[in-house]
Amino acid sequence: MINIFQPSLGAEELKKVKEVFDSNWLGRGDVVHEFEEKFAKNLSINKCNLYATTSCTEGIFLAADLFNFQPGDEVIAPTISFIAVGSAIVNSGATLVLCDVDRRSLNATAETIAEKITDKTKAIVLNHYGGHPCDMDGILKLAKRHNLHVIEDSACAVHSFYKGRACGTMGDMGLWSFDAMKSLVTGDGGMIYLKSNVLMDQAKEQCYLGLPARSTSGIDKFSKGDDIWWEVQINRTGRRAIMNNITAAIGLAQVDKLHDFIQKREDIYNKYNQAFSQISQIRTPPGLVDSDCKNSYYFYWIQVRDRNQLAHYLKDNGVYTSFRYWPLSRVDYFSCSNPLEFPNTEYAADHTLNLPMHQNLSDSDVEKIISLVIDFISERKT
Ligand SMILES: *Cc1c(COP(=O)(O)O)cnc(C)c1O
Repeated sequence: MINIFQPSLGAEELKKVKEVFDSNWLGRGDVVHEFEEKFAKNLSINKCNLYATTSCTEGIFLAADLFNFQPGDEVIAPTISFIAVGSAIVNSGATLVLCDVDRRSLNATAETIAEKITDKTKAIVLNHYGGHPCDMDGILKLAKRHNLHVIEDSACAVHSFYKGRACGTMGDMGLWSFDAMKSLVTGDGGMIYLKSNVLMDQAKEQCYLGLPARSTSGIDKFSKGDDIWWEVQINRTGRRAIMNNITAAIGLAQVDKLHDFIQKREDIYNKYNQAFSQISQIRTPPGLVDSDCKNSYYFYWIQVRDRNQLAHYLKDNGVYTSFRYWPLSRVDYFSCSNPLEFPNTEYAADHTLNLPMHQNLSDSDVEKIISLVIDFISERKT
């Protein structure tokens, strides 16, 4: 079976992990700092705005704390969002308000968001679908006018740019994921961007037991002149969601490969696009809005009439496909009163299929997938 997503790991990651074993310091330390620094370079931003954590989901829940989502607030998220976005908002006591997406890019737009803004709206949690940047100019302007916090779920957008600015760094907070299915993998892991230094301190404290972010004393840190080095004080309550050196070692080796990963993905994306854009029954993803924009090519998707049948046909022929993300408007737990108020979402959810996209696909894999799709479509036509 050809996988839809697949990590690429090798000797370089093992070597870095071995160095951590040899150092005998497995917890958060220099390797994590180095990873944060390299990841900052990848986004062309300052390291002091980044903090490594255990997962993107943890970061999304942290966002709800930092921006103080609470009962009476409304927080907007696109229907096509990762499930944890809905959970974090609902868990905070705020009201989850869904907005429709563009039917081709599956991203929220300034127009779909504007329809949902009320005087209770506190924030928007965006998703850069598949690494394709949202059209941010209008969204940021809208957010400014209504005084809304902008949180960018950039789990798919590990190296995406909008008019020269990295996705995840245009709003107040950004989040990336390094889970086992992403382009850059560390097993599990995440990265947080915060624009505000004050919130960054708070985030660090909440991710590490509430210990003061700006003090050198943690738990059991001996410094000269201390009589008792086991005293503990905290600034706030905190969980434990810090990245460790083993995870960061894998991440470091992966960042070095990221450019090649994305190049390979772009080649595959272009091959798919070239083949499918010739065929009138297939809709291909939209192009980027501006030459200054960059995609991370995390997903490739097509839209076709008989999507479910195509998915089964491909699976029966050894190609695994899926659809991301099942709309939150169709998740019963979030009890959206009227899923039909999202016409673009309804279209996208019934017609979109994500095709295999990862660095390990061979030319013949890609050719096989393309010809299976085309065979299926031409049989349906006649
Ligand atoms: C994978 C993913 C997440 C969750 O990331 P974890 O690190 O697994 O918690 C969140 N949002 C999007 C859009 C994702 O694709």
